[in-house]
Amino acid sequence: MGTICGVEMTYSAIEVLRLGHRVGRDPRITTHLALVSRAMGADQFTLAGDMDEKLFENIASVNERFGHGITCRHEQSPMKMLKQVAKSDDELRPLIIHLTMYGEPFKPTIAKLPKNRPVLVVVGGAKVPAELFSISDYNIAVGNQPHSEVAALALFLDCWTEGAGFERQYQNPQLVISPSKSGKDVKEV
Ligand code: SAM
Repeated sequence: MGTICGVEMTYSAIEVLRLGHRVGRDPRITTHLALVSRAMGADQFTLAGDMDEKLFENIASVNERFGHGITCRHEQSPMKMLKQVAKSDDELRPLIIHLTMYGEPFKPTIAKLPKNRPVLVVVGGAKVPAELFSISDYNIAVGNQPHSEVAALALFLDCWTEGAGFERQYQNPQLVISPSKSGKDVKEV
């Protein structure tokens, strides 16, 4: 199924695309989207909307300290990019999965999807272009109520990777945290 940082995974590559980022308003929530992506199995985080160097520096700093696990980039034309992916006749092109409260229920829908395909998970911002619904291969809802893009992404990734997203390994960490019952167990490498 492919590897992440040299580790065989039971699922293929995952890219998360965050639409409509606004530097003045969204840094915290978009940073959380990138951190959840990194911690739960995605290997690429793509930011659309405003470019945000500070956000990228924060994620680079997490990679530096806790191990390299995700690359970030800015996409100037996300809808153009999505259309190009959608029209590709490569049978292993990424499936475009749009997370939206208007979509189909995530668990039964994910159960039907081919796991040998990479996925491009699209998370909306304040306003989502209407054509995204038709460009996407699947519009998937994590419940049909509005809530949080971070919660929707985390639940989707956990279900898609069947929990294996947490098993990935990170390259060249400076700090390694071991599970502990009674406080911090952190080793400097
Ligand atoms: N008003 C926006 C719209 O036009 O859809 C929704 C804004 S919502 C705060 C931001 C993003 O969170 C959505 O685009 C979607 O990706 C995600 N989201 C929120 N609730 C969701 C749900 N129940 N299921 C899946 N994704 C959800």
